[in-house]
Amino acid sequence: MRYLIFSDIHGNLEALEAVLEHASRRKVDHYIFLGDLVGYGASPNEVIEKVFSLKRVIMVRGNHDKAVCGLDSIQTFNPIAAEAIKWTRKNVSKKNLRLLSNLPKGPLVPHDHLTICHGAPFDEDYYIFGEFDAVEAFGYFDSQICFFGHTHFPYLYQEKDRTVEGTFIEEFPFEIRLEKEARYLINPGSVGQPRDRNPRASYAIYDSTRRTLKFYRVEYNIKESQKKILAASLPPSLAERLELGI
Ligand code: ZN
Repeated sequence: MRYLIFSDIHGNLEALEAVLEHASRRKVDHYIFLGDLVGYGASPNEVIEKVFSLKRVIMVRGNHDKAVCGLDSIQTFNPIAAEAIKWTRKNVSKKNLRLLSNLPKGPLVPHDHLTICHGAPFDEDYYIFGEFDAVEAFGYFDSQICFFGHTHFPYLYQEKDRTVEGTFIEEFPFEIRLEKEARYLINPGSVGQPRDRNPRASYAIYDSTRRTLKFYRVEYNIKESQKKILAASLPPSLAERLELGI
């Protein structure tokens, strides 16, 4: 089975389309989305509809998805993120809002060997930043692999012989073979708002038969996404940051 692993689209339709197009040439049969369809970007409706139209897609909700539905307060968000949440609330259709509010809370275990969550397996809103967090997270799931998002950094943690080692993925494409004796926490990075100073859209393909994981970065029409953000009167910094990858 080949899974497209993606996260944090944040209303960026151009980035999402580029990823789906890129992945369609690489034979994917299942989709696993790790949360945050909306927030920041100017195309929440198009993104929700596109992801829900995929066949065989498994999703969990993200903190922005929750906040837009009113399932979470915007007090924990910085002023710019909060403004984008309010904008999204006003601009998302009723039908799509219902889809968002029905997104399941992670973690989910879609297969015995696989757990998925937005932030961390013990708290959907927690940021796994570094090995210290990863050590704790490994104690909260039983499967061999846990996919997570939320930080917008492509990252891989391996637990083997009671030792946890983190790898920040910097070169693309980057492929690793997953060892039978090890366990993994894997973040595919962000589709719609990468923060690792690489503005290209980030995702990964997991091949459960070959036991490989490959990280990709994809160019997309950043100018178009920026234009839409500015035309929508969203905070201009949300457009600027896309070309910087921050
Ligand atoms: Zn996010």
